[in-house]
Amino acid sequence: MNKYYIILSIIISFLNACSSGTGNKKEQKADSLIHGGSAKNKNSVNDLAAILSKREVPVLCYHHIRESKPGESKNMKSYSVSPSSFASQMKALSDSGYSSVLPDQLYDYLVNNVELPSKPVMITFDDTDGEQYSIGAAEMQKFGFKGVFFIMTISINRPRYMSKEQIKNLSDSGHVIAAHTWDHHMVTKYQGADWDTQLSNPKKQLEALIGKPLKYFAYPFGLWNKAAIPELKNRGYQLAFILSSKRDSIEPLHTIRRMIVPGTWSTNGMLNAMRATFNK
Ligand SMILES: [Zn+2]
Repeated sequence: MNKYYIILSIIISFLNACSSGTGNKKEQKADSLIHGGSAKNKNSVNDLAAILSKREVPVLCYHHIRESKPGESKNMKSYSVSPSSFASQMKALSDSGYSSVLPDQLYDYLVNNVELPSKPVMITFDDTDGEQYSIGAAEMQKFGFKGVFFIMTISINRPRYMSKEQIKNLSDSGHVIAAHTWDHHMVTKYQGADWDTQLSNPKKQLEALIGKPLKYFAYPFGLWNKAAIPELKNRGYQLAFILSSKRDSIEPLHTIRRMIVPGTWSTNGMLNAMRATFNK
């Protein structure tokens, strides 16, 4: 009988320990930020100020990794980086001492003050292009870098885009799979059922594919509006990424800045632009 009570009390104290750790407090603090953080909550205002005061982490954004085609417009050229330039840029980042960081780390840095490596960089890819897998991930692997792949789900398994297996493989090898809507319509145009079509369904589809929760989003064209932010938060998106426009002073977690690397830049030009864009 005594043994029974001893075992029971051990189990109860273990359960209590699990439910009262500091992790819970952190989650509650973060929760107030994610789900609103209005001025009535003093803590969340302080958290907002703290987030805004932190040094920005450089976030690079790539689209196509291929030679630009003859006669291609300047605009299209800015979305294509040649395989040799991409390889040179990854080598230069590594040679300069940069470490790749992922969105979980960025979130913990911004919200919970968890330290990052001394020279962090986030490497991101938009639009599901097949060469992001065959060239992008393969080059990054040489330097131990991991990246973030923002997938528009309509393109999965189409010619020249990534297959389901490739996306799963990226996730299994430590890269992060994130959402980039269903069909790349701009968020600023959404009404009614569009929110579920573009934000909920892709999240569910990708979560089923990779077997992990999906928490991060990139706005097509980097365009966002105020209406999008509660829709993202309600669906469990903890960070959302824009392009190089200004981040929002009220919603910095849902307006994380990124820099497109145009194919016209030299490797040194890319490094200089990165430092100039993200260093305050
Ligand atoms: Zn895109």
